[in-house]
Amino acid sequence: MPFFVVDVALPVPLQRSFDYLPAANDERRHYRPGQRVRVNFANQLLTGVVLGTRDQSDVARDKLKPLLQRLDDEPVIDAETLTLSEWLAHYYHHSQGEVLDLMLPAMLRRGSHLSEAEERHWHKCSEQPPSLRGSKQQALWQRFEQQAYWPHSELTAAGFSLAQLQRLAELGLIVEQQQVPLPAINAEPQAPLTLNEQQQSALDQLDEHGFSVALLEGVTGSGKTEVYLQWMQRLLDEQRQVLVLVPEIGLTPQTLKRFRQRFAVPVVALHSGLNDRERLQGWCSAKDGSARIVIGTRSAVFTPMPELGAIIIDEEHDASFKQQDGLRYSARDFAIVRAHQRQIPVLLGSATPSLESLHNALTGKYRHLKLTQRAGNAKAPGMKLHSILHQPLTAGFAQPVLQRMQATLQAGQQVLVFLNRRGYAPLLACRQCGWSADCRRCDARMTLHAWPRHLHCHHCDHQQAVPAVCPSCQHPELEAIGQGTEKAEQQLLTLFPDWPVRRVDRDSVRGKQAFDQLYDDIHDGGPCILVGTQMLAKGHHFPDVTLVVVLDADAGLFSADFRGMEHSAQLILQVAGRAGRAEMPGEVWIQTLYADHPQLNLLLDNGYHALALSLLQERQQRQLPPYTHLALLRAESEDRHQAEQLLQQCRQHIQHWQRQHPRVRVSLVGPFPAIMERRNGRFRQQLQLHGAERSALHRILHQLRHFLQQQRLPRNLRWHLDIDPIDTL
Ligand code: ADP
Ligand code: ZN
Ligand code: ZN
Repeated sequence: MPFFVVDVALPVPLQRSFDYLPAANDERRHYRPGQRVRVNFANQLLTGVVLGTRDQSDVARDKLKPLLQRLDDEPVIDAETLTLSEWLAHYYHHSQGEVLDLMLPAMLRRGSHLSEAEERHWHKCSEQPPSLRGSKQQALWQRFEQQAYWPHSELTAAGFSLAQLQRLAELGLIVEQQQVPLPAINAEPQAPLTLNEQQQSALDQLDEHGFSVALLEGVTGSGKTEVYLQWMQRLLDEQRQVLVLVPEIGLTPQTLKRFRQRFAVPVVALHSGLNDRERLQGWCSAKDGSARIVIGTRSAVFTPMPELGAIIIDEEHDASFKQQDGLRYSARDFAIVRAHQRQIPVLLGSATPSLESLHNALTGKYRHLKLTQRAGNAKAPGMKLHSILHQPLTAGFAQPVLQRMQATLQAGQQVLVFLNRRGYAPLLACRQCGWSADCRRCDARMTLHAWPRHLHCHHCDHQQAVPAVCPSCQHPELEAIGQGTEKAEQQLLTLFPDWPVRRVDRDSVRGKQAFDQLYDDIHDGGPCILVGTQMLAKGHHFPDVTLVVVLDADAGLFSADFRGMEHSAQLILQVAGRAGRAEMPGEVWIQTLYADHPQLNLLLDNGYHALALSLLQERQQRQLPPYTHLALLRAESEDRHQAEQLLQQCRQHIQHWQRQHPRVRVSLVGPFPAIMERRNGRFRQQLQLHGAERSALHRILHQLRHFLQQQRLPRNLRWHLDIDPIDTL
């Protein structure tokens, strides 16, 4: 057999692929790009992806090892995805093997066979009205008359036995098959709504063919989703698949229901509530084309879809589209690259677009579509800043706000109180000596939680018991200072004893089911107070909420993050958008110490778009994104100086390199410590790289990565690159 080696991408940081000898008895034709193989790499079992085969290797023959196993007969990764993985590796400065690893469902990553997605099914294969003996047989047959296809497990769960199924099979009425379950289909799709003029105009401007990006900027409740749905219908009519990306907490059962109700095609949802097998099943049905719509969160952007015709990204500004650890990719940005490669259109939607996307729309790179009014009968809520300067507060609320709440409840409506701080109180302290409960591992305070009572660091997850007396001066009383959602809930129960209070945050609502239940309760519930974090803000439709109170708008106003004001405005409008979504008009009260804050006022008087324009101007003056391209090199270590030293070396290396390449212009800021320098016992430093041109920035980053990988670093000194970072603190 002629000699050849297999070129394999492995999930390791080294920026190269690896040669292996074929597995025993395999011929060259057995290996095609996109198949998975198992290999031994530095005494570890890894799943790799075949990139190709070669006549010879740079590695000496006696050093080459055979790969252990070829996992697939057919490639599981198509050529398109392989090309995209190269782009991702290059852009985010990771190895192609790491990228491919990220793109695969967990089970395939671990080496499972595709067939593990299959389940036993029974199909009807005869229309003959049978003469069946026994009522159980009759009942079973009736099932198949209702639906021609049943998973074995569902039938046995319904009380039918294998023997009964086999009897029908012997009669030639049904056959058994192993297959990936078909995604849910809705037999009676709902009719589309009649679009208003603005919606119609937006829809008319959307393409079905070729690459383009459109930004649909529409206030909450303006009917963006209806535009998506009608556009999708056109694409489905052309036998195309559609990919819809939604934020992490946006894929609620209501959202999903809305998409399912409209179409008579199989819809697959990919969300965190699925187990690995269900995920693989969804992935498979998208890949084989049986699922026509895939709706999912960030990582769904990698779903293989052979007939993909368009990508929709709802709430495109949402931070959850950017992965914040490991390979820090942006699903939104990658979706656009994917669409470009496929030459298909992308639709970005938001009430509060990111300044990056808005900039692209304003400069004509994206098509800019606007919906300025709420659809249907709902009116935009009235928004009002309420100064709490020198005002007496009860449980954090100003008197007039409490009165509005009372009136709203008495009118039979619901109140939503937004407080983006979970736990009971952000600070536990001693008034006697000034001691405070600080985290041992972070430069941060521990949050006091009341149910169960404990201290919890929200940065490193460290938990400990609440001391009975002050650990420093033994004073018997410690004070809970400040207000989290637990405290607000407790205080509201006292202030409004006649009405139910429901708290919604990560501690009170664990798991999808809990949220579904809560959602139903709120829907049928009558007057009540909802108090919660941003979990309450996203995408929910609470028809009876007519009053929204933003308890503490000031937290985000003076953030050190240059995106602070942008994110605050987005969050405030998101929450405000929950008010008055049905027939009744809504109002929003925002409590603040800074009622004359110019940007807050601009937001309230002239809307998000006006504020965004002003923020863009500021970004341009300060040469910040989107007017420059930004990357961060972060380093962290248990030793305060090690991280800084490494970044100093990097800085010098870049500067040295730049002197030899004076035309590659990138400016460096730092190294400087992160705002919270110590987290989880590690000191964090960062070096910012700004480039007016992406290509220059990436040339330097390439250099930098090479330099870093050549260093012999102490074990506990870690570094990573973050391209287009969202979190720059
Ligand atoms: P968005 O996605 O912009 O927040 P939605 O698509 O959820 O807005 O629409 C808000 C509400 O208005 C929904 O209840 C929806 O059914 C309704 N709606 C949307 N478009 C229309 C229309 N053309 N006519 C009547 N009602 C509409
Ligand atoms: Zn004390
Ligand atoms: Zn901590």
